Amino acid sequence: MPGEVRVRFAPSPTGLPHIGNIRTALFNWLFARHHGGKFIVRVEDTDQVRLVPGSIEAMLAGLRWLGIDWDEGPEVGGPYGPYQQSERLQIYYDLANKLVVQGNAYHCYCSRERLDQVRQGQRERHTPPKYDCKCRFLSQDEKDSLRAEAESDVIRFAMPQSGITRVNDLIRGEVEWKNELLDDFIILKSDGFPTYHLAVVADDHLMEISHVMRAEEWLPSTPRHLQLYEALGFDPPEFAHLPMIMGPDRAKLSKRHGATAIGEYEDDGYLPEALLNFMVLLGWSLDGETEKMPTQDIIDNFTLDRVTKSAAIFDQEKLLWMNGVYIRELTSDQLADRMLPYLERDLDDELKPVEQDYLRRIAPLLQERIKRLDEAANMSSIFFKVDKFEDTGILVQKGMDRDSTLTALKAALDQLSATDDYGHEKLEEVLNATGEKLSLSRRQFFGVLRTATTGRTVSPPLFEMMEVLGKDSVVSRMEDAVEQFSAAG
Ligand code: GLU
Repeated sequence: MPGEVRVRFAPSPTGLPHIGNIRTALFNWLFARHHGGKFIVRVEDTDQVRLVPGSIEAMLAGLRWLGIDWDEGPEVGGPYGPYQQSERLQIYYDLANKLVVQGNAYHCYCSRERLDQVRQGQRERHTPPKYDCKCRFLSQDEKDSLRAEAESDVIRFAMPQSGITRVNDLIRGEVEWKNELLDDFIILKSDGFPTYHLAVVADDHLMEISHVMRAEEWLPSTPRHLQLYEALGFDPPEFAHLPMIMGPDRAKLSKRHGATAIGEYEDDGYLPEALLNFMVLLGWSLDGETEKMPTQDIIDNFTLDRVTKSAAIFDQEKLLWMNGVYIRELTSDQLADRMLPYLERDLDDELKPVEQDYLRRIAPLLQERIKRLDEAANMSSIFFKVDKFEDTGILVQKGMDRDSTLTALKAALDQLSATDDYGHEKLEEVLNATGEKLSLSRRQFFGVLRTATTGRTVSPPLFEMMEVLGKDSVVSRMEDAVEQFSAAG
């Protein structure tokens, strides 16, 4: 790749970051890391009306959580700053005026009402909506009198009215537009802020961005940007427009498809490395088959020829599956560490603080059974307390009655009190024998035991669980169960 690779992620702080934004960030980051270049974050806050406080902080937190680090930008600074467009207004103002002086841009004094009328006329004639260029061809006298009357003015770019603008997009190939169909778009607004178009071109040039990699929805803006580059005498960067992301129903991705703000994935117990792996498959693939890949392998192989043109489909089920795969690959100590914050968050106060060593013994029993870390509290709470029996009838197994259940409970309690070896194999052996003596099937006898020791009909493997709970706790749970069952009968 000639020259240094410098790519940027340029979020607008207009809401909480979602999968689409972060996928763009991720692809830029992977591209930079693959080529040993720089990844820059730039805040595009020129639309002051749509600013949503906290969105940049949420964006940066999301990137950090995923392990996407930036070389220049907010918090880290860098030689091309400031990296927030609202702090660069003078630059855009000067460039807009330079374009006016050169004759590539002009002041427009048209009122909102007049623009609405123009739009209305175009609608009636079924012609594309476009500024009618009234202020482009004014005499000096007309300009002077309009300026004196106008409440405010904007600067518009004077688009060439013939010819073609072409881009050789690194993903989509050659795309071209007829200039006559393009609008004289605004570059500087009446509040003195630039529009996105001017600011993005100015900054991509001044920050020496080599590749502009962004969502496909920006492709139609590219001819405007190319014309601006040309008028300003700047060399344009390379462009690469990333495929759209859609739901399985082929509609634009939304909450309805399960896609939520990035922070919610963390709250819901997704592992950042699993989400990262899932997201890279939204428009990129190693060989059309491999799904699970360590981040370093992705970086090593991340080239644009592997980015697809067709839309990517966001499949929530696949994300859940992938998260489960990543959870099972953790060591049980790692899983315990990862679960801890979720337990601290979700367990009842009286069960906290959670003891780390105890958690490390619980973790292996949950590992096969959870797909998200936020399931950990519910599933592990039985290690801390027995669910209260709302109805002791749940102790009675199919084919049993209350008498045989009470007999089974008592026999189990006797056996569990007499046994000192609480290794799960030994427990299974002795309890199996007890059940056989009572002529109960394994399903029946172990069902009674499971329900008695947990208060639930479903739990992690019974004997492993008892081993972790230990004799004192198991015996006291059994005693309680016998007592409650007898009292209720
Ligand atoms: N600020 C634009 C956005 O929010 C970035 C477009 C671009 O990358 O050029 O999405």
